[in-house]
Amino acid sequence: MVRNSIRVWAAALPALLAISAAACQSAPEVPEGPPVTALTGVRIIDGSGQAPVEGGTILISEDRITAAGADVEVPAGATVVNLDGKTVMPGLINAHGHVQYLSDSIPMRDDLVRRLRMYADYGVTTVVSLGQQEDDRDAVVALRDEQDGIELDRARVYTSGPSTRAHQSSEAAREAVADLADRGADRIKFHMQSGDGAMSGETVASLIDEAHTRGLRTFSHIFTLDEAKLIVNNGIDVVAHSVRDQDVDEELIEAMRSRDVGYIPTLTRELSVFTYETTPAFFDDPFFQYGISVYGEEADMLSEEGYQQKVRMDEGAQAIKAALAQANRNLKILSDAGIQIGMGTDSGVRGNPGRWQGYFEHVEMEMMVEAGMTPMQVLVAATSGAAAVSALDQVGTIAPGMVADLLVLDANPLDDINNTRQINSVWIEGRQLSRD
Ligand SMILES: [Zn+2]
Repeated sequence: MVRNSIRVWAAALPALLAISAAACQSAPEVPEGPPVTALTGVRIIDGSGQAPVEGGTILISEDRITAAGADVEVPAGATVVNLDGKTVMPGLINAHGHVQYLSDSIPMRDDLVRRLRMYADYGVTTVVSLGQQEDDRDAVVALRDEQDGIELDRARVYTSGPSTRAHQSSEAAREAVADLADRGADRIKFHMQSGDGAMSGETVASLIDEAHTRGLRTFSHIFTLDEAKLIVNNGIDVVAHSVRDQDVDEELIEAMRSRDVGYIPTLTRELSVFTYETTPAFFDDPFFQYGISVYGEEADMLSEEGYQQKVRMDEGAQAIKAALAQANRNLKILSDAGIQIGMGTDSGVRGNPGRWQGYFEHVEMEMMVEAGMTPMQVLVAATSGAAAVSALDQVGTIAPGMVADLLVLDANPLDDINNTRQINSVWIEGRQLSRD
């Protein structure tokens, strides 16, 4: 996934050269293999849910973690980065974001790249884009395809292409999935809606079956409990939003559990619908202001009295306050029931301003704790949980063999989830991102 065969071959070269040099002229001893970086003195929260390791060491070689724990010896020749007292956790994974073209003034590719960089600057090192616009789909596929072969300095991206919806026959649903797959989608997202244009259970089953036949995981937009049951009973892999109309019941929980279905709450999506009825206090938060080069245009628009007035008068927007309270309740119920939770925000959607790529992932975690999850449960959901629901097996934990995507924090997020905002540095594939 991340490493390709050319890089593996190239990585072996220094070791081969070192060996041949030693054989020819007994040169001074050069450590074999690629260089090693050692992060020492750190609290390791490995993303699995295990208790943290205090005073630990993490070894990185090329793009991978090669060792992590309390008793790890630093090999001779390693570059030691002393991080005494810092906390290291896996880079955050957003299992439901959007990487869409949102600018009028910047070329598409540049805008998409700066958005991926903004995610990364906030510690989100992988984002799954569950829904493209027609115009940006190919550009995001291209960014995904190039990311394995470059020195990545932005969030890794995966994409579903545009969300597909409202098919009136199994044949139409299968054709749509085939087209998405042919155009480079690495998973399938669809909208399940009741009322006009609703898809039947049979159509949904065909849509999901076609995706699975092509090796693609399926994610669905839903709002109600009935919609959630329909997609789960017809084979969905992941419920991509909260159930927001009533309490989830034992029937749904049992169906999700028996089919190993994941759940992405996207609480900040709800927040974004009504919170700009006034100017939110967080607009002055320095951690929000850190992203202002990308956020500024939208923040200005959302600060206008006219916009805020519209939100205050919009019954649909106001109704989302109750939907959020319901989403909070259901997150607690499903988490307690042992359903796999993956952190996701729905950030970055065109036409839905104020879903801040990078900043909102931290607000999402704060809201998940407010909903009743423990900080540890939330950190798991934002790392290995998000990886699990997204079927990404190389990221999300700190363990030998995993990609070295790391978030170094100045304070312990187990004490206060908002300490995920105390970012010391972000590492992607074993390289520290510059912070300027
Ligand atoms: Zn979405």
